[in-house]
Amino acid sequence: MASVRVNDDLVLRESSASAKGAGLFATRDLERGRRVLCEDPLLECSEPSQAASGRRGDGSRLSDQDMQRLARLPAGPGQPFQVLSGAARLPLQSLFGDDGGARLTNTIKYNQVRIATAKRPMVGFYTAATSHSCSPNAYLSHNETTNTLDLYLVHGVKKGEEITVSYFQDDYACPQSVRAQRLQKWRFVCACACCTTNLAASDARRNEIKRLYSEHDQLDIARLLHCTSLAREWHWEAHREDEYVWDLATCVRTIIQHMKDEGLYGLALTWVLVDYAKHCEKMGNRQLWRENMREALQIREMCLGPFHASTRDLANRIA
Ligand SMILES: [Zn+2]
Repeated sequence: MASVRVNDDLVLRESSASAKGAGLFATRDLERGRRVLCEDPLLECSEPSQAASGRRGDGSRLSDQDMQRLARLPAGPGQPFQVLSGAARLPLQSLFGDDGGARLTNTIKYNQVRIATAKRPMVGFYTAATSHSCSPNAYLSHNETTNTLDLYLVHGVKKGEEITVSYFQDDYACPQSVRAQRLQKWRFVCACACCTTNLAASDARRNEIKRLYSEHDQLDIARLLHCTSLAREWHWEAHREDEYVWDLATCVRTIIQHMKDEGLYGLALTWVLVDYAKHCEKMGNRQLWRENMREALQIREMCLGPFHASTRDLANRIA
Protein backbone atom coordinates (compact mmCIF):
# COMPACT_ATOMS: atom_id res chain seq x y z
CA MET A 1 0.00 0.00 0.00
CA ALA A 2 1.46 3.32 -1.09
CA SER A 3 2.06 5.80 1.67
CA VAL A 4 3.64 9.24 1.84
CA ARG A 5 5.29 10.72 4.91
CA VAL A 6 3.66 14.03 5.90
CA ASN A 7 5.72 14.78 9.04
CA ASP A 8 6.92 12.98 12.21
CA ASP A 9 3.31 12.38 13.30
CA LEU A 10 1.43 11.56 10.10
CA VAL A 11 1.44 9.58 6.88
CA LEU A 12 -0.92 9.92 3.95
CA ARG A 13 -2.20 6.59 2.69
CA GLU A 14 -5.22 4.79 1.36
CA SER A 15 -8.33 4.98 3.49
CA SER A 16 -11.62 3.17 3.26
CA ALA A 17 -13.32 5.89 5.33
CA SER A 18 -12.69 8.58 2.74
CA ALA A 19 -14.48 9.38 -0.49
CA LYS A 20 -11.12 10.52 -1.85
CA GLY A 21 -9.40 7.22 -1.28
CA ALA A 22 -6.76 8.73 1.00
CA GLY A 23 -6.49 9.70 4.63
CA LEU A 24 -4.03 10.87 7.29
CA PHE A 25 -2.85 8.28 9.84
CA ALA A 26 -0.87 8.60 13.08
CA THR A 27 2.64 7.14 12.95
CA ARG A 28 2.74 6.90 16.77
CA ASP A 29 0.60 7.48 19.86
CA LEU A 30 -0.33 11.18 19.98
CA GLU A 31 -1.81 13.20 22.84
CA ARG A 32 -4.89 15.43 22.69
CA GLY A 33 -4.22 19.10 22.09
CA ARG A 34 -1.26 18.34 19.82
CA ARG A 35 -0.98 20.23 16.54
CA VAL A 36 -0.33 17.46 14.04
CA LEU A 37 -0.41 19.53 10.86
CA CYS A 38 0.26 23.13 9.85
CA GLU A 39 0.13 23.92 6.15
CA ASP A 40 -0.20 26.90 3.84
CA PRO A 41 -3.52 26.88 1.98
CA LEU A 42 -3.11 26.38 -1.75
CA LEU A 43 -6.16 28.51 -2.44
CA GLU A 44 -8.59 30.82 -0.73
CA CYS A 45 -12.03 30.82 -2.30
CA SER A 46 -14.53 33.62 -2.54
CA GLU A 47 -18.22 32.82 -2.58
CA PRO A 48 -20.59 32.41 -4.24
CA SER A 49 -18.73 32.30 -7.55
CA GLN A 50 -16.16 29.75 -6.26
CA ALA A 51 -13.48 31.95 -7.81
CA ALA A 52 -10.12 31.35 -6.26
CA SER A 53 -6.89 33.24 -5.88
CA GLY A 54 -3.40 32.16 -5.00
CA ARG A 55 -2.38 32.66 -1.41
CA ARG A 56 0.54 34.90 -2.32
CA GLY A 57 -1.30 38.11 -3.04
CA ASP A 58 -4.73 38.44 -4.58
CA GLY A 59 -5.03 37.12 -8.09
CA SER A 60 -1.38 36.25 -8.35
CA ARG A 61 -0.47 32.96 -9.88
CA LEU A 62 0.39 29.96 -7.79
CA SER A 63 3.93 28.64 -7.80
CA ASP A 64 4.65 25.68 -10.08
CA GLN A 65 4.96 23.43 -7.03
CA ASP A 66 1.54 24.48 -5.71
CA MET A 67 0.04 23.98 -9.16
CA GLN A 68 1.42 20.44 -9.17
CA ARG A 69 -0.14 19.78 -5.77
CA LEU A 70 -3.46 21.20 -6.90
CA ALA A 71 -3.37 18.97 -9.99
CA ARG A 72 -2.96 15.91 -7.72
CA LEU A 73 -6.14 16.58 -5.76
CA PRO A 74 -9.21 14.59 -6.78
CA ALA A 75 -11.83 16.48 -8.79
CA GLY A 76 -14.76 14.31 -7.75
CA PRO A 77 -15.82 10.92 -6.38
CA GLY A 78 -13.86 7.99 -7.76
CA GLN A 79 -10.78 10.09 -8.50
CA PRO A 80 -8.15 9.22 -5.91
CA PHE A 81 -5.31 11.39 -4.69
CA GLN A 82 -2.70 11.17 -7.42
CA VAL A 83 0.06 11.55 -4.87
CA LEU A 84 -0.47 7.89 -4.02
CA SER A 85 0.43 6.72 -7.48
CA GLY A 86 3.85 8.32 -7.48
CA ALA A 87 5.17 11.85 -7.41
CA ALA A 88 5.60 12.21 -11.16
CA ARG A 89 5.04 15.66 -12.57
CA LEU A 90 1.51 16.04 -13.82
CA PRO A 91 0.58 18.07 -16.85
CA LEU A 92 -0.83 21.36 -15.61
CA GLN A 93 -2.92 21.24 -18.73
CA SER A 94 -5.13 18.81 -16.81
CA LEU A 95 -6.22 21.67 -14.53
CA PHE A 96 -6.75 24.39 -17.11
CA GLY A 97 -7.35 22.24 -20.16
CA ASP A 98 -9.84 22.23 -22.98
CA ASP A 99 -12.76 21.86 -20.60
CA GLY A 100 -12.54 25.55 -19.75
CA GLY A 101 -11.32 25.05 -16.19
CA ALA A 102 -14.10 22.64 -15.20
CA ARG A 103 -11.60 20.37 -13.52
CA LEU A 104 -10.21 23.24 -11.47
CA THR A 105 -13.73 24.26 -10.40
CA ASN A 106 -14.52 20.68 -9.36
CA THR A 107 -11.21 20.35 -7.52
CA ILE A 108 -12.04 23.44 -5.49
CA LYS A 109 -15.63 22.39 -4.80
CA TYR A 110 -14.65 18.89 -3.76
CA ASN A 111 -11.68 19.76 -1.57
CA GLN A 112 -12.46 23.11 0.00
CA VAL A 113 -12.91 23.27 3.76
CA ARG A 114 -15.17 25.67 5.61
CA ILE A 115 -13.71 26.71 8.90
CA ALA A 116 -15.42 28.60 11.71
CA THR A 117 -12.35 30.81 12.21
CA ALA A 118 -11.78 31.63 8.51
CA LYS A 119 -13.64 34.20 6.45
CA ARG A 120 -13.47 32.17 3.23
CA PRO A 121 -13.43 28.49 2.27
CA MET A 122 -9.90 27.21 1.63
CA VAL A 123 -8.13 24.38 -0.10
CA GLY A 124 -5.09 22.79 1.54
CA PHE A 125 -3.24 19.79 0.14
CA TYR A 126 -3.11 17.52 3.21
CA THR A 127 -6.23 18.93 4.86
CA ALA A 128 -8.10 17.99 1.66
CA ALA A 129 -7.16 14.36 2.39
CA THR A 130 -8.54 14.32 5.93
CA SER A 131 -11.48 11.94 6.30
CA HIS A 132 -14.81 12.78 7.85
CA SER A 133 -16.23 11.41 11.09
CA CYS A 134 -19.37 12.56 12.92
CA SER A 135 -17.40 12.20 16.15
CA PRO A 136 -13.98 13.38 14.96
CA ASN A 137 -10.67 13.17 16.84
CA ALA A 138 -9.29 16.36 15.32
CA TYR A 139 -10.29 19.96 14.72
CA LEU A 140 -9.28 22.03 11.71
CA SER A 141 -8.73 25.74 12.22
CA HIS A 142 -7.34 28.69 10.32
CA ASN A 143 -4.71 30.87 11.95
CA GLU A 144 -5.10 34.41 10.63
CA THR A 145 -1.72 35.56 11.90
CA THR A 146 0.25 32.88 10.06
CA ASN A 147 -2.44 32.21 7.39
CA THR A 148 -2.05 28.48 7.92
CA LEU A 149 -4.47 25.59 8.15
CA ASP A 150 -3.81 23.98 11.53
CA LEU A 151 -5.00 20.54 12.56
CA TYR A 152 -5.26 19.88 16.31
CA LEU A 153 -6.18 16.65 18.09
CA VAL A 154 -9.20 16.92 20.39
CA HIS A 155 -8.82 13.29 21.47
CA GLY A 156 -5.67 11.25 21.95
CA VAL A 157 -5.03 8.80 19.09
CA LYS A 158 -3.14 5.51 18.91
CA LYS A 159 -0.45 4.62 16.41
CA GLY A 160 -2.07 3.64 13.10
CA GLU A 161 -5.37 5.38 13.88
CA GLU A 162 -6.88 7.63 11.22
CA ILE A 163 -7.15 11.37 11.87
CA THR A 164 -10.71 12.62 11.26
CA VAL A 165 -12.52 15.94 11.20
CA SER A 166 -16.18 16.81 10.72
CA TYR A 167 -16.94 18.22 7.27
CA PHE A 168 -19.70 20.33 8.86
CA GLN A 169 -19.72 22.90 11.63
CA ASP A 170 -23.17 22.27 13.05
CA ASP A 171 -23.73 18.52 12.85
CA TYR A 172 -24.02 18.21 16.64
CA ALA A 173 -27.74 18.98 16.20
CA CYS A 174 -28.27 16.76 13.11
CA PRO A 175 -29.40 13.12 13.23
CA GLN A 176 -27.72 10.54 10.98
CA SER A 177 -30.32 10.86 8.18
CA VAL A 178 -29.59 14.58 7.79
CA ARG A 179 -25.81 14.04 7.91
CA ALA A 180 -26.02 11.27 5.29
CA GLN A 181 -27.92 13.61 3.00
CA ARG A 182 -25.29 16.32 3.37
CA LEU A 183 -22.47 13.83 2.76
CA GLN A 184 -23.96 12.98 -0.63
CA LYS A 185 -21.90 15.87 -1.98
CA TRP A 186 -18.86 13.60 -1.53
CA ARG A 187 -20.88 10.52 -2.47
CA PHE A 188 -19.83 8.36 0.43
CA VAL A 189 -21.60 6.71 3.32
CA CYS A 190 -20.16 7.52 6.74
CA ALA A 191 -19.37 4.41 8.77
CA CYS A 192 -18.28 6.12 12.00
CA ALA A 193 -19.58 4.78 15.35
CA CYS A 194 -22.30 7.48 15.52
CA CYS A 195 -23.65 6.30 12.15
CA THR A 196 -23.39 2.55 12.89
CA THR A 197 -22.92 0.85 16.27
CA ASN A 198 -24.02 3.82 18.41
CA LEU A 199 -26.69 5.06 16.00
CA ALA A 200 -29.74 4.92 18.28
CA ALA A 201 -28.06 6.59 21.26
CA SER A 202 -26.32 9.14 19.06
CA ASP A 203 -29.49 10.13 17.22
CA ALA A 204 -31.37 10.45 20.51
CA ARG A 205 -28.70 12.82 21.87
CA ARG A 206 -28.48 14.96 18.72
CA ASN A 207 -32.26 15.25 18.39
CA GLU A 208 -32.35 16.30 22.04
CA ILE A 209 -29.63 18.93 21.42
CA LYS A 210 -31.72 20.30 18.54
CA ARG A 211 -34.85 20.44 20.72
CA LEU A 212 -32.96 22.12 23.58
CA TYR A 213 -31.54 24.76 21.23
CA SER A 214 -35.04 25.64 20.06
CA GLU A 215 -36.29 25.73 23.67
CA HIS A 216 -33.33 27.93 24.58
CA ASP A 217 -34.19 30.44 21.83
CA GLN A 218 -37.83 30.61 22.90
CA LEU A 219 -36.87 31.13 26.54
CA ASP A 220 -34.42 33.84 25.57
CA ILE A 221 -37.04 35.71 23.51
CA ALA A 222 -39.52 35.42 26.39
CA ARG A 223 -36.88 36.74 28.79
CA LEU A 224 -36.11 39.72 26.53
CA LEU A 225 -39.82 40.52 26.17
CA HIS A 226 -40.17 40.38 29.92
CA CYS A 227 -37.36 42.92 30.26
CA THR A 228 -38.96 45.53 28.01
CA SER A 229 -40.35 48.64 29.60
CA LEU A 230 -43.77 47.78 28.19
CA ALA A 231 -43.82 44.50 30.10
CA ARG A 232 -42.77 46.28 33.28
CA GLU A 233 -45.46 48.89 32.75
CA TRP A 234 -48.04 46.16 32.55
CA HIS A 235 -46.58 44.52 35.68
CA TRP A 236 -46.09 41.37 33.70
CA GLU A 237 -44.78 39.17 36.47
CA ALA A 238 -45.88 35.78 35.18
CA HIS A 239 -42.28 34.63 35.04
CA ARG A 240 -39.53 36.56 36.84
CA GLU A 241 -36.30 37.17 34.94
CA ASP A 242 -34.16 35.08 37.29
CA GLU A 243 -36.47 32.15 36.68
CA TYR A 244 -35.86 32.53 32.95
CA VAL A 245 -32.13 32.57 33.55
CA TRP A 246 -32.39 29.44 35.67
CA ASP A 247 -34.33 27.64 32.90
CA LEU A 248 -31.85 28.85 30.26
CA ALA A 249 -28.90 27.62 32.35
CA THR A 250 -30.53 24.20 32.82
CA CYS A 251 -31.11 23.96 29.09
CA VAL A 252 -27.51 24.83 28.20
CA ARG A 253 -26.03 22.54 30.87
CA THR A 254 -27.89 19.60 29.32
CA ILE A 255 -26.65 20.51 25.83
CA ILE A 256 -23.07 20.53 27.17
CA GLN A 257 -23.51 17.07 28.68
CA HIS A 258 -24.94 15.63 25.43
CA MET A 259 -22.10 17.13 23.38
CA LYS A 260 -19.51 15.63 25.71
CA ASP A 261 -21.26 12.24 25.62
CA GLU A 262 -21.07 12.42 21.81
CA GLY A 263 -17.34 13.18 22.09
CA LEU A 264 -17.84 16.52 20.29
CA TYR A 265 -14.97 18.59 21.64
CA GLY A 266 -14.99 21.23 18.88
CA LEU A 267 -15.27 25.00 18.96
CA ALA A 268 -19.07 24.74 19.31
CA LEU A 269 -18.65 23.24 22.79
CA THR A 270 -16.64 26.30 23.87
CA TRP A 271 -19.46 28.63 22.72
CA VAL A 272 -21.98 26.67 24.77
CA LEU A 273 -19.70 26.65 27.82
CA VAL A 274 -19.26 30.43 27.58
CA ASP A 275 -23.05 30.80 27.29
CA TYR A 276 -23.53 28.64 30.39
CA ALA A 277 -20.92 30.68 32.26
CA LYS A 278 -22.83 33.86 31.34
CA HIS A 279 -26.03 32.45 32.88
CA CYS A 280 -24.12 31.38 36.02
CA GLU A 281 -22.81 34.93 36.39
CA LYS A 282 -26.33 36.34 36.05
CA MET A 283 -27.38 34.06 38.88
CA GLY A 284 -24.53 35.45 40.95
CA ASN A 285 -22.38 32.32 40.92
CA ARG A 286 -18.95 33.73 40.11
CA GLN A 287 -17.21 30.45 40.99
CA LEU A 288 -19.22 28.47 38.44
CA TRP A 289 -18.66 31.25 35.87
CA ARG A 290 -14.89 30.88 36.32
CA GLU A 291 -14.93 27.07 36.19
CA ASN A 292 -16.86 27.00 32.92
CA MET A 293 -14.87 29.82 31.31
CA ARG A 294 -11.68 27.93 32.17
CA GLU A 295 -13.00 24.74 30.66
CA ALA A 296 -14.02 26.65 27.52
CA LEU A 297 -10.49 28.11 27.35
CA GLN A 298 -8.92 24.68 27.76
CA ILE A 299 -10.96 23.28 24.84
CA ARG A 300 -10.40 26.35 22.69
CA GLU A 301 -6.65 25.94 23.20
CA MET A 302 -7.05 22.34 22.13
CA CYS A 303 -8.90 23.31 18.92
CA LEU A 304 -7.05 26.48 17.94
CA GLY A 305 -3.78 26.45 19.87
CA PRO A 306 -2.77 28.86 22.66
CA PHE A 307 -1.78 31.74 20.36
CA HIS A 308 -4.90 32.04 18.23
CA ALA A 309 -6.68 35.41 18.54
CA SER A 310 -9.92 33.71 19.72
CA THR A 311 -8.02 31.81 22.42
CA ARG A 312 -6.25 34.94 23.65
CA ASP A 313 -9.52 36.86 23.59
CA LEU A 314 -11.14 34.27 25.88
CA ALA A 315 -8.07 34.18 28.16
CA ASN A 316 -8.28 37.98 28.55
CA ARG A 317 -11.93 37.77 29.54
CA ILE A 318 -11.06 35.38 32.37
CA ALA A 319 -7.99 37.28 33.61
ZN1 LIG B 1 -20.79 9.34 10.81
